[in-house]
Amino acid sequence: MSKLKHTKSLALFKKAKRIIPGGVNSPVRAFRAVGGNPIFIQSAKGPKIYDVDGNGYIDYVLSWGPMILGHSHPAVIKALQKACERGTSYGAPTPLETELAVMIRKIYPSMEIVRMVNSGTEATMSAIRVARGFTKRDKVIKFEGCYHGHADGLLVKAGSGAATFGVPDSPGVPRDYAKNTITLPYNDLAAFKRIVEKDGKHIACVIIEPVVGNSGCILPRPGYLEGIRKLTTKHDIVLIFDEVMTGFRVSFGGAQKAFRIKPDMTCLGKVIGGGLPVGAYGGRSDIMKMVSPEGPVYQAGTLSGNPLAMTAGIETLRILSRPETYKQLMAKSAALEEALKDAARRAGIKTKFYRAGTMFCTYFTDKEIYNFTDAKSSDTAVFAKYFSGMLDRGVNLAPSQFEAGFMSLAHSGADINKTARAAYETFKEIK
Ligand SMILES: *Cc1c(COP(=O)(O)O)cnc(C)c1O
Repeated sequence: MSKLKHTKSLALFKKAKRIIPGGVNSPVRAFRAVGGNPIFIQSAKGPKIYDVDGNGYIDYVLSWGPMILGHSHPAVIKALQKACERGTSYGAPTPLETELAVMIRKIYPSMEIVRMVNSGTEATMSAIRVARGFTKRDKVIKFEGCYHGHADGLLVKAGSGAATFGVPDSPGVPRDYAKNTITLPYNDLAAFKRIVEKDGKHIACVIIEPVVGNSGCILPRPGYLEGIRKLTTKHDIVLIFDEVMTGFRVSFGGAQKAFRIKPDMTCLGKVIGGGLPVGAYGGRSDIMKMVSPEGPVYQAGTLSGNPLAMTAGIETLRILSRPETYKQLMAKSAALEEALKDAARRAGIKTKFYRAGTMFCTYFTDKEIYNFTDAKSSDTAVFAKYFSGMLDRGVNLAPSQFEAGFMSLAHSGADINKTARAAYETFKEIK
């Protein structure tokens, strides 16, 4: 049981459960994978979040990735305050949308044309619709343990949330939708080749997390993404990189920059909203010309391109664009990696730690992790103890083995040292 006081959180959770499904608006927040009750948050600043009972935590969830500058960054807050005074939504074009789109294209040159939406789910769902419209084909390939939001047809072997609850396929998704989704193991180029050689002319697109962040953190084997790029080009299949998580996290230019692969389409979200609800999809101009009103593929949104969301995104990308920012982010992430590995070694506990830029995961297994099946070999009961031990010591990790952790620019050397101490004590306790 937790050593910290969580009285107010518990009362609020009881109240929430009477009116909101499971008391939460996104399933993994309910702590079911790790036991116990969720902490309710009062505020957040820099690397820390504070719960309603007055406890503070060094935060590696960072709203599931977006808060790469740390919470409540003064420049973002100031820009938002000013933007609020000009009105919060117009449902008409603004200069801000073009400004953010141009910034995105400069950093992700493969995104020649960009459409703003309100979430990652909307970005992937729309990108797939456009790819289908463009190719006039129906089938979609995705990979086990990759999550692309909760659109029907993508909720097949979808990693984190679904994995956490052991229901890879959600009821409510018509079999007719899911039957057009082909699911393959990640990092298995031979399996991919077999399918596209056999069925290529029916496959509209391949959607992939180039580094899988929704089963922890799984890196592509050398040559895997290159192989997928080659085969999709050969069969005129649209290659969609879902960089909603990896964008601005694996590197400034995402996984496509780090691995030097040019996808046909890219989905972004999380970081580009600077903590407000945003998604974006874009890609080759011949494909994006399909999107309404330029083309026949319909996709719309009352709040799309919202001025507050655009403002937070622009301000965040502006700070990320400074040359020293990524040096610092990478150095902090590498320091955390070393510290956590060292804590595990000293405590004599077997872990596998993976990191891609500012995303990371600790698995409790001695097996290398190449795909979702490998990730499931991690001892989730041990993870649950790790999670609670860290929370008790003032460190907030994602409440599931199958989620990535994130570093921010606001985390200090002292925060990293404190995290390492907490990890060492927790590992000792587990042992
Ligand atoms: C978070 C995420 C999504 C979904 O984004 P939402 O904003 O939660 O709808 C899609 N794809 C990936 C890779 C993600 O990490």
